[in-house]
Amino acid sequence: MRVTVIGTGHVGLVTGACLAYVGHHVTCVDSDGARIQSLIAGSVPFYEPFLQELVNAVTENGSIDFSTDAAVPINESEVIFIAVGTPPLPDGASDLQYLEQAARSIGAAMGTNRRRVIANKSTVPVGSGSLVNTLIRESLADRFRAAPSAVRFAVASNPEFLREGNAIRDSLYPDRIVVGADDSQARSLMEELYRPLIEQSFEAPTFLPRPDGLSRVPLVSTSLTNAEMIKYAANAFLATRISFANEIANICERVGAEVNEVVKGIGLDSRIGSRFLNAGIGWGGSFFGKDLKSLIHTAVEQGYRPRLLEAAEEVNRRQREWVLQRLQEKLFILKGRTIGLLGLAFKPNTDDLRDAPSLDIARRLLHMGARVRAYDPIAMPKCKRQFPELKIRYCDSPNLLVERADALVVVTEWEEFRGLALSELAARMTHAVLVDGRNVFDPKAAMTAGFDYCGVGQGLRERDQMTHELGDAGFAAAGSFA
Ligand code: NAD
Repeated sequence: MRVTVIGTGHVGLVTGACLAYVGHHVTCVDSDGARIQSLIAGSVPFYEPFLQELVNAVTENGSIDFSTDAAVPINESEVIFIAVGTPPLPDGASDLQYLEQAARSIGAAMGTNRRRVIANKSTVPVGSGSLVNTLIRESLADRFRAAPSAVRFAVASNPEFLREGNAIRDSLYPDRIVVGADDSQARSLMEELYRPLIEQSFEAPTFLPRPDGLSRVPLVSTSLTNAEMIKYAANAFLATRISFANEIANICERVGAEVNEVVKGIGLDSRIGSRFLNAGIGWGGSFFGKDLKSLIHTAVEQGYRPRLLEAAEEVNRRQREWVLQRLQEKLFILKGRTIGLLGLAFKPNTDDLRDAPSLDIARRLLHMGARVRAYDPIAMPKCKRQFPELKIRYCDSPNLLVERADALVVVTEWEEFRGLALSELAARMTHAVLVDGRNVFDPKAAMTAGFDYCGVGQGLRERDQMTHELGDAGFAAAGSFA
């Protein structure tokens, strides 16, 4: 099938590369000329595991191409995806300007030569499918005054559930595919497009084998409005789970309980499950916050106040304060202190810094007069480029990060951090304070290594007391903790 994807960000480029990989011919279009030049030159403009390999493979076999000009590919395609950004406006609503531009460019390019589906992958408020439909019809009416209906098309919603850092896996081996359209022919065409993924009939790439036992992916074929709502409901639920874990963590800290044990205990209940229950410094990234705000905005616009969702957002906002509170508890005045941030990206395996907790924490620390250093395996060049006003000292290794520092803060749970030699790090620091915002380290191991440690929801009062009673010998010698 001929496919055009408008927008080559995380969603558009991954979608385009995966559809090309499973046998379609895809043109990826972007209004950003530099981005398209970089793709034509063979280079993926952001970090996502396996994406470069996949793009290389589909470029070599000629099933993908890149262009800034949407008109020709749109006219030749049966399916046109919209995968442009929908950033938040100050009042929480979604900024639909890019979506509107994309819709108009589609209306300006489609001819009468075939029937098409315009599939929206951007996360947009309920009702945006109708908006796209209207904008396309308006463009067509300008071009085909006599018979705009001669151009046959239907709008579908095909929400995206990929996670950055796992995007290729999530796209080739998804939990489900959701297609919403109020037109049965459009639903059939989308099912045809996705058949190789639904039936898992494509040859798995050597670098990313198919998960054991996966032979079929469920397709949820539903109305346009339901599909738009499914995306928001999914993100709202995941965001609320994280805020729930953080709420429990904050109570654990006050009653001397260990949140990791508590969520393990509840997660084994098959009605609950263990995923997305990790306590920490909260979610970041371009979607949970923005999508939750947008859903709240839509609900309020419709006369309903979604208090649970508002609370989930508030808990997340408060959680970012946790790092500063712990640092103040340990070091008192932060002015002139040197704080090392371990991780900058909003989550591991990506260089995405959108709404990253690291940025809020760095800004607050700098404002308080602290010296801020950072180490991230991937995101440092992007951070330097995008936030030149942040006076962060970027370090090439965790060892340089902690040299004569007063505190180390774990902000992103990169896998490589788990293997760090803690005693070596502690020995290099002026004050060996470790604020573990992602509960990456075992508290006993960190304390044995010489750190004054605190993690999220780790029964602080009890631990502080025990540290005091046991003195510098630490917990290693404490039989009750062995
Ligand atoms: P992004 O901002 O990284 O990329 C969007 C791209 O679209 C940019 O390269 C931009 O230049 C291009 N663009 C904008 N207007 C254009 C136009 N008129 N014509 C051609 N190109 C245009 O966005 P993203 O992270 O890929 O997200 C896209 C959408 O998918 C958003 O609505 C987002 O909420 C949603 N989403 C994102 C993720 C994720 O993990 N990033 C996951 C699920 C859903």
